[in-house]
Amino acid sequence: MTENFTKPFTRQEPIPEPAIEAAVRVMRSGALHRYGADPSEVAALENEFAAQTGAKHALAVASGGYAMGCAMRALGVGPGDPVLTNGWTLAPVPGAIAAVGAKPVLVEVGEDLCIDLDDLEAKAGQARVLMLSHMRGHIADMRRLMAICDAAGVAVIEDCAHTMGAAWDGVPSGRWGAVGCYSCQTYKHVNSGEGGLIVTDDPDLAAKMILLSGSYMLYARNGTAPDEEVFARHKGEMPNVSGRMDELRAAILRPQVADLPEQARRWNARYDALESGLRNLPGLRVIERAKDESYVGSSIQVLADDPARVPDFIAGCVARGVEWKWFGHATAQGFTSAHHHWAYVEAQSLPQTDAILARLLDMRVPLTFDLDDCATITGIVADEAKKHL
Ligand SMILES: *Cc1c(COP(=O)(O)O)cnc(C)c1O
Repeated sequence: MTENFTKPFTRQEPIPEPAIEAAVRVMRSGALHRYGADPSEVAALENEFAAQTGAKHALAVASGGYAMGCAMRALGVGPGDPVLTNGWTLAPVPGAIAAVGAKPVLVEVGEDLCIDLDDLEAKAGQARVLMLSHMRGHIADMRRLMAICDAAGVAVIEDCAHTMGAAWDGVPSGRWGAVGCYSCQTYKHVNSGEGGLIVTDDPDLAAKMILLSGSYMLYARNGTAPDEEVFARHKGEMPNVSGRMDELRAAILRPQVADLPEQARRWNARYDALESGLRNLPGLRVIERAKDESYVGSSIQVLADDPARVPDFIAGCVARGVEWKWFGHATAQGFTSAHHHWAYVEAQSLPQTDAILARLLDMRVPLTFDLDDCATITGIVADEAKKHL
């Protein structure tokens, strides 16, 4: 096979027409501030996202990183406090911890690419909060994880940037811990350029986060606001750290959130085609999914047996238009970084994670690829694996 692949790995689908029409309506009204619009698109989005996830409260904010910072502040995380988190995640996660002045305590990840629950159990006594990253959509055994954290008195914040629409044992990701945080940034499962969503069942955390996000005295207009008596406990205590979502973003997100189940189905059709084409290739291993996990296959990962052969394999694929990201680089590349690139985090020894990252290859699965594209990609990867791995 000598065919090359020519489609870009970073092209989104267009924003759906009903979303564009809604955005134009908002712009014609001039009312782009969530607390100036009546009715408010942001409040409607909060109601709809709470209903979709089954949460009592939802809050729309400016980014996924803001969502995580807001959740940590509401849980009382402050300067110098240790916060447990995955040793393998993307930079916004340790960045959000650094932004509140807290100190990441990194936990090893396993060959399933999830947080290592034995290492979590060993380190759980060191912090009061776990910022759990469902990195690249891989969900750990949430029953065991919650049992470990509950026993140690550790509150769990879920980073669902890659698991919006996914679930463990039928319970949506973001609904296991105290707070779930999502990103609506262009490369995630819904696209408003930038944006974030937060869910919780806890009325006190909801009120604190609404106040933190910059609600002035208009907090009752949040789509799923707790009662006034709850706000009365926190008013004046919470600083205003502005990070509201605006009407324009909410307008384009509402139709996309409604479409999420269908988009997840389309992603998984592509993921399943890629996974079966990558299974049983020489020198490469696909990541087996647990039976309790329902995922949204917006990216796919494989482990190479021999890290020393990875650079030539990647070069062979790239020359034919197939892009892998490799987490084994000595320096951060584009969106890809490893814990030893985060100089603002105290250096920590994670031998198991480092050995996995040296072998870890990662590919985006944009919805602009069709099933023929997936077959072309796996054909090229198979050729190059035979040559180089
Ligand atoms: C994108 C992302 C976030 C949040 O990112 P924002 O760009 O701030 O919305 C959080 N965690 C992970 C793993 C991400 O990839």
